[in-house]
Amino acid sequence: MLESLPAESEYSAAAGELLLAGNSELLKRDLPEAVAASAKVLQDYLHASQENRMLAIEWVESGDLEDAPPAAGLLRLLAWSAIRRTMAPVLTSYAEMRKDEEWLRAYCPVCGSLPALAHVHHDQPRALACGCCLANWQYQRIGCPFCENEDQNQLSVLTIEQEPLFRLDACGACHGYLKTYIGERDTQLYLSDWSTLHLDLLARENKLERKGASLYEI
Ligand SMILES: [Zn+2]
Ligand SMILES: [Zn+2]
Repeated sequence: MLESLPAESEYSAAAGELLLAGNSELLKRDLPEAVAASAKVLQDYLHASQENRMLAIEWVESGDLEDAPPAAGLLRLLAWSAIRRTMAPVLTSYAEMRKDEEWLRAYCPVCGSLPALAHVHHDQPRALACGCCLANWQYQRIGCPFCENEDQNQLSVLTIEQEPLFRLDACGACHGYLKTYIGERDTQLYLSDWSTLHLDLLARENKLERKGASLYEI
């Protein structure tokens, strides 16, 4: 798989161009004032140099909270979409070549983020899902992926009356949680951070803390 990865600078450059194109497209739309203002600031920055475009991509990927480029919130959303498109060939070859049973780590094998969601169904292994690059991977069925706590007394399941296809798997040791899809169909659709943000609000009401990487600040 490593041979199929473009050199890092080549990859940042390609993602940087898609990022600029994405923001240019956005500016053509009828936007709420605040978004339009962010998009203009971001456009000036990205348009100024290739170096800025590459720095923007690298900043988003690093998850760094400091030295943020301008319009950082909008940048994160647009940059991940550009990164996903640049990585699409790698993701496809990863999906074909990966050996699930050899990874089994808590973080995303593609981009290194901590999981946003999980999928369990009958006696199949648990799958974790990345909220950034959307990759899925296998993980042990029991245990918190954030602190690796496996003590059953500290792990609980919150069922959700309004959402019978989901539950929250909560950890008493680190107060983290995983939005867990327990249905069978349309896995890609349901394993989406965006469509399940209301579950994060519910988790917060239950004094749980989001540990998984997120593109959305709620
Ligand atoms: Zn990922
Ligand atoms: Zn934990």
